[in-house]
Amino acid sequence: MASSSILGIDFGTTNTAATYFDKTGRLRLVPVTDKSFVLPSVVWYHAGDKAIVGHAARTQIIDDPRHTIFGAKRFLGRRFDSEFVALHKDRFAFDLVPGPDGYAAIHVYGQVRPLTDVVHVIIKQILTLANHAAGEPFSQCVLTVPAHASIRQREAVRRAAEKSGLEVRAIINEPTAAALYYANLRNPEQTVLVFDLGGGTFDATLMSVQNRVVKVLATGGDAFLGGANFDEAIVEGLVDEFERQSGVRIRGNKLVMQRLIFAAESAKIALSVREEAQMRVAGLTQKEGAFVDFNFSLTRAQLEQLVFQLIERLAASVDDVLQRANMTPEQVDELVLVGGMTRMPAVRQRFAHFRRTSTDKEVHPDLGVAIGAGVLGRNLARGIVGLADVVPMPISAMLPGGRTVEVIPANTPVPCTKTLPLEALPMWNAPIPIAIFESLSTTAVDREILGTLHVPPQWRAAQPGGGQLELKMGHDFTLRATLIADNGARTPVQLVDPKPITAV
Ligand code: AMP
Repeated sequence: MASSSILGIDFGTTNTAATYFDKTGRLRLVPVTDKSFVLPSVVWYHAGDKAIVGHAARTQIIDDPRHTIFGAKRFLGRRFDSEFVALHKDRFAFDLVPGPDGYAAIHVYGQVRPLTDVVHVIIKQILTLANHAAGEPFSQCVLTVPAHASIRQREAVRRAAEKSGLEVRAIINEPTAAALYYANLRNPEQTVLVFDLGGGTFDATLMSVQNRVVKVLATGGDAFLGGANFDEAIVEGLVDEFERQSGVRIRGNKLVMQRLIFAAESAKIALSVREEAQMRVAGLTQKEGAFVDFNFSLTRAQLEQLVFQLIERLAASVDDVLQRANMTPEQVDELVLVGGMTRMPAVRQRFAHFRRTSTDKEVHPDLGVAIGAGVLGRNLARGIVGLADVVPMPISAMLPGGRTVEVIPANTPVPCTKTLPLEALPMWNAPIPIAIFESLSTTAVDREILGTLHVPPQWRAAQPGGGQLELKMGHDFTLRATLIADNGARTPVQLVDPKPITAV
């Protein structure tokens, strides 16, 4: 019999974790190994369609980098020809290619696989572990996504979970999940700033917590800033010196750079608890037939210098979020740190002017988001919502002729309904297209087309006043469009995706 509990899954760039409440109402973390509650989000394809997930796959990043997929979340639901993919794809030794739908996909053993396949393999694994831990299968889940995840990205994780046979009850923003956990912990009435710095992204979310209900006041962050950028900064800082000393050029060699990035990450993690770390990669490259080792020692002070600019970028994002809510750091009751990168002492010091009363034991940097998802799962199972999320990016409409109008502003609480007057719509004899898109900025590069709807010419001709277009965004970030006639009559219209995500 399927479990009545709802599994909370935090599918992370680096690690995936899951939690649930058992029949006695106790919170359970899904064990991955004897010692760990996190499953590395890494998939190693060791034959055409055979995959291994987690800790065992992680070691293959070095041994079989072409077939070992990590950081898939960064590219999920992104078009291959997007600026983001162009900027980041060369960091990875596996083959990123355009899928038949135009979205980033991987190429392994001569086959193109959508990234939802990779994510599906990870979710299936954590689900198997959860089913085993609970002693009965889960049929429903809550998923978490970065606060600025686009609708496409949300849809892509949803499909990956559905492919595992799970019904997705809700998709919530990671920082909201962390705050929900925090609210559940102490039931405070406070204003909380959740600072979530993971492997690939940074989210800053300002929330008010009242009676265990979380309301998002403002969200921000940087989709291009995460732990991986810190690793790159370390490598950047050392490669020139290595090339000078060894006389070997290694820049541009993907495999070599990947090994260095791996070593840089280990050194970075070690420097969170030590003052000095050794970065050693035996046989990194070759010179005149002999192996050349990479061997540098790095101090915490040197590391902090290398990543100084990145930390300042974090600070600028935080300022921006506070400014939007018209608040000062003193007005924030608590800074909640989530994500593996918040263990770095320099990151903590930079934000030491914020109040922090919870200890890290309480809001666990690796599991806070997964626990929040579990808390929402329990609340949904009991019929309580206790959550008010906001639209991550503005939703706009482009009318024939190119005029663009913002319909739903960013940070509008969901669910929400907004209307756009259509008096400027031309009278044509053919269906009149309106493109709907979401974007972080107004530049065309960043736009993500969500779909196009067509206004029937007869409908347009019958509205001397122009009528209106209504866009409704649901709790789960699904978008519905309806035409409203001058007399108030409603006609739902289909949003047609110009390039749909491959059905999985
Ligand atoms: P997450 O996506 O939350 O799992 O965060 C993963 C990121 O945190 C990766 O970039 C890790 O290198 C980084 N990380 C994990 N542990 C530490 C640590 N102790 N010190 C600094 N960075 C860490």
